[in-house]
Amino acid sequence: MIARPPLAEEKLEMLIGGRWTAAASGDYFESFDPFTGKPWALVPRAGVADADQAIEAAAEAFRGAWRTMTATARGQLLCRFADLVAEEAETLAVLETRDNGKLINEMRMQCRYIPQWFRFFGGLADKIEGRVIPIDKPGVFNYTRREPLGVVTAITPWNSPLMLATWKLAPALAAGNTVVWKPSEFSSVSAIAFAKLFEKAGFPKGVVNLVTGFGSEIGDRLVTHPAVAKVAFTGGDATGRRVYQSAAGGLKKVTLELGGKSANIVFADAKMEAAVPGLVSGIFAATGQTCIAGSRALVQRSVYDEVAEKLVAFARTARIGDPLDPETQVGPITTEPQRRKVLDYIDIARSEGASQLLGGKAPDDPAIASGWFVEPTIFGNVAQSMRIAREEVFGPVLSIIPFEDEEEAIAIANDSIYGLAAGVWTQDLGRAIRMPERLEAGSVWVNMYRATSYLSPFGGYKQSGFGRENGRTAIDEYLQEKSVWIDAGNSIPAPFVQR
Ligand code: NAD
Repeated sequence: MIARPPLAEEKLEMLIGGRWTAAASGDYFESFDPFTGKPWALVPRAGVADADQAIEAAAEAFRGAWRTMTATARGQLLCRFADLVAEEAETLAVLETRDNGKLINEMRMQCRYIPQWFRFFGGLADKIEGRVIPIDKPGVFNYTRREPLGVVTAITPWNSPLMLATWKLAPALAAGNTVVWKPSEFSSVSAIAFAKLFEKAGFPKGVVNLVTGFGSEIGDRLVTHPAVAKVAFTGGDATGRRVYQSAAGGLKKVTLELGGKSANIVFADAKMEAAVPGLVSGIFAATGQTCIAGSRALVQRSVYDEVAEKLVAFARTARIGDPLDPETQVGPITTEPQRRKVLDYIDIARSEGASQLLGGKAPDDPAIASGWFVEPTIFGNVAQSMRIAREEVFGPVLSIIPFEDEEEAIAIANDSIYGLAAGVWTQDLGRAIRMPERLEAGSVWVNMYRATSYLSPFGGYKQSGFGRENGRTAIDEYLQEKSVWIDAGNSIPAPFVQR
């Protein structure tokens, strides 16, 4: 078991223009440990003046040393940063677990994996090439340059704080942009430790700025400031809509990674010994607090009873407890309001007539009574019309929905405003090919679930957002193309005719 140090009295600082600083107002807010339910760190509460300073520092860095650094040197910096993250992975993982309550095993896996993003995108930095166009005008040389956008604001959620920030920061920096990063107010501590590594790696001042604070207080300014060229956002769809509207005023470029209500579909021909743990891992592994949670289990009617029974038996054995204990399988919910929201959804599901098969309340165990826990909860015979099947709960609540055949599975799965991910469990090769074609989701896993990689694009269909993170093409989201025309023939222009 990892020791849990007492409340850090030290007041943490944020990074603006290469300077570690408190908020201009001198205000702080408490960050809570979801397992103890108590504050454990003091984080600067940035205001609009701090946001402005960070954006101005990023704009200055973009015009300065960062702009003139060679792409190779930029890539090497990203790789140096990757090495530092690898060295500090354990420390970062423990900070993440204390701040957001997610399992230490999961945060370790993420923190050990993050360096690959910086190496991959660092490697791409000097492979950003333009094209020579065989232009249809004699004597004219036409080529393209792919250039950075400028200042990128990265706004990130609490559920996988460093991993989701990495998905933005690595390609944005590799492309030559500068960044102002606002982590969630519920998970700023690991972000501060991460930002220190950018400084240690030798990034020029102002290239990476970290502003900690509340989205409701500084979010709007971070989006609308005239010097911001692009906003890369991950979070809930209501916030995403608001960010998109604010960004429209200044015609900013935006990418949005939003919520989901993903279907994890089990056909009667599936290998049940894989499908059942697959359903469990899709929803309970991160206490349901993942955008790709397979929160709707669609199960073919002929195996419905068998799957429901096995699922309940399996989920019942999940060990609930301290997320810093590597043996724990289900940790707390990250915030108290979020826990209340999850319990409210459980009440709604009951009142809508769903049959509760497991859980449905906070655990009785007095050893974990101070933490923000909800038991793994399963509802059976859920209809797609119920709110529990349509709205994102973001907690350990699984709805099982029966279906007859492939057509009905597709219809139910696609009957959602969201389209982030889907899972299919089948041994039928044709079906394994047909289903991904017809599912309206940015990621589809067949006989597996919840895998992501720096090599493969990730993003939403429909109201799960737009733009892609990860994979080669993610860097294009942070570049713009310029067309350059040169008259190599010394011709004298005809002034009143378009050439
Ligand atoms: P949230 O929308 O409440 O907050 C996300 C971020 O937005 C935070 O940093 C917050 O401070 C900031 N914010 C809040 N109001 C703002 C405003 N007016 N302007 C600008 N920024 C503002 O989301 P959350 O509760 O932190 O995270 C959970 C949500 O994130 C879930 O809906 C989940 O599905 C989604 N999510 C999506 C992905 C994905 O890749 N698609 C990944 C993880 C989480």
